[in-house]
Amino acid sequence: MTYTHAFLDGTACDLPPRKIVCVGRNYAAHARELGNAVPETPILFMKPATALVPLVGGFSIPAGRGECHHETEITLLIGRQLKHAGEAECLAAIAGIGLGLDLTLRDLQNELKKKGQPWEVAKAFDGAAPLSAFLRPEGFDLDDLRFTLAVNGEVRQCGHSADMITPVLPLLAHISTIFTLEPGDVVMTGTPEGVAPLRVGDVLTLEMDGLKVESAVL
Ligand code: ZN
Repeated sequence: MTYTHAFLDGTACDLPPRKIVCVGRNYAAHARELGNAVPETPILFMKPATALVPLVGGFSIPAGRGECHHETEITLLIGRQLKHAGEAECLAAIAGIGLGLDLTLRDLQNELKKKGQPWEVAKAFDGAAPLSAFLRPEGFDLDDLRFTLAVNGEVRQCGHSADMITPVLPLLAHISTIFTLEPGDVVMTGTPEGVAPLRVGDVLTLEMDGLKVESAVL
């Protein structure tokens, strides 16, 4: 299915789908569950625009490439260019807040990590970033966003943005010192603990204040 950025309120979004900047290990409990150290500076990686697919209507996962894990993450739609930006500028540049999955071929990622090779084939493949539509950011406290993922009716992941090691605005400011963020880019802010493999036929419910998305693995 072709992906375009969309707002939940149905208003038009003319921001083009572009790169996705992701942060690894931004929640201490998740770093621990995978046996990783908590990083001192954010671990950044990217997915290309071709990774974007809508969550609504369901998505597919690669077959025959080992376990594909869900990582449920708060997503930020960038509305203005950010380059060496301060936190106030970053706040003003957030055009939308949503939820998404940083799909990860975990077996493959573990092999790549062991060999010291980059993660892209495990995290940046076509369809690796199913996203919800975005809420308008007005009225939301970025440090008090709670979100959950339920799979087949069972809650698997519960996150609270207050638990982020690098909170949203310092994270955007840091990213903007390395990668210029452009209108239409998305930032995925890291996953809380509870990552697990997805299977074809799984029914997913992602929720945050003001947002509830039903999806499925097709
Ligand atoms: Zn992630």
